[in-house]
Amino acid sequence: FEYLKKADPQIYETLQKEFDRQKRNIELIASENIVSEAVLEAMGSFFTNKYAEGYPQKRYYGGCEHVDEMEQLAIDRLKELFNAEHANVQPHSGSQANMGVYFAMLKPGDKLLGMNLSQGGHLTHGSPVNISGQYFDFTEYGVSTEDGLIDFAEVKRLAHEIKPKMIVAGASAYSREIDFKKFREIADEVDAYLMVDMAHIAGLVAAGLHNNPCEVADFVTTTTHKTLRGPRGGAILCKKEFAKQIDKAIFPGIQGGPLEHVIAAKAVSFKEALQPEFKEYQKNVINNAKALSDALINHGFTILTNGTDNHLVLVDLRSKSITGKEAEKILDEAHITVNKNSIPFDPENFLVTSGVRLGTAAVTTRGMGEKEMKEIADIINIVITDRNIEKAKEMAIALTDKFPIYQDTQL
Ligand code: PLP
Repeated sequence: FEYLKKADPQIYETLQKEFDRQKRNIELIASENIVSEAVLEAMGSFFTNKYAEGYPQKRYYGGCEHVDEMEQLAIDRLKELFNAEHANVQPHSGSQANMGVYFAMLKPGDKLLGMNLSQGGHLTHGSPVNISGQYFDFTEYGVSTEDGLIDFAEVKRLAHEIKPKMIVAGASAYSREIDFKKFREIADEVDAYLMVDMAHIAGLVAAGLHNNPCEVADFVTTTTHKTLRGPRGGAILCKKEFAKQIDKAIFPGIQGGPLEHVIAAKAVSFKEALQPEFKEYQKNVINNAKALSDALINHGFTILTNGTDNHLVLVDLRSKSITGKEAEKILDEAHITVNKNSIPFDPENFLVTSGVRLGTAAVTTRGMGEKEMKEIADIINIVITDRNIEKAKEMAIALTDKFPIYQDTQL
């Protein structure tokens, strides 16, 4: 980073501090991961200089022959990874991917069914503060008060009552496997499209460790930066019959020139995800989440649904008499990074919350295993129950020191 250091010492300094933070902290934010050096190189590459509005072989700019080759590789790899008929790798983010599908298939005011944000859904699934909730008529489903699982009886009842044009499945904070076939059956009963937003679980799906929504959904959207371990970005997979509509909705519908440097990094991460090691990695992500959940339960924490099937552990902090906001703050002081998260039927508002959401994608990338998950649970307990931040901080630093990242990178 010699050029950056000379040209812009202020930005260089922020980068250096962020690099140190990432090396030092135990990263438990469930939507984050640590990409490979190869992904970083592709993202910081000359592809950033290129305008390439359009799609491979159908561009609005000259000089696109190498960008075409690269973007086609990204498309082909993504299709192979999820056994999908069509892929669009241009969405700048997960939100853009979702907007792309809505813009392709719906008109303002159309009815949809999506998962409530405070019960695990995402902003783009109809929240009133998001364009999805303002332009479309979303009705929300949630989880059952009894077991915390998606209430399919309610999904079915609401679907028959409102007759949505589209049902949106997928979540940001749901720790159990989602039965996409059940959503398909309900969508068929009311003649609705089914869109699955698999952003959080895409890596698990790619590894064959979660049922694949591409088998049943008309549209599957994803981010590329969570369990899939690529650069920040989005993608859409769909049946061939919708390919043209989807591509048109992304460009020229809601985006201009694609971020070809990010697409190059996506392509690299898709290649990584096609390797046998990626399956092992995802198995470890799930085993680590189970180990973390069990160890926290042993420390007296309440875990939503009493465990997990995926990379996520949702902690209800009420039994520990601390809010999500406070827990996030004091865990951060001890170098453990988490995010506060509403729990279903949360008595606290969304800025305070009664829970935290933990994920094991990033710590598993560092090479940590079940033994370390127990240690992390111990550290969390020392922070939350004992309020001994200093001791917890020492333990956290000792742990991350044992599992270094980006060892060959010089700043
Ligand atoms: N969909 C789901 C389920 C998510 O969890 C997220 C991000 O957290 C998104 C979409 C949005 O992705 P982005 O932040 O890239 O817009």
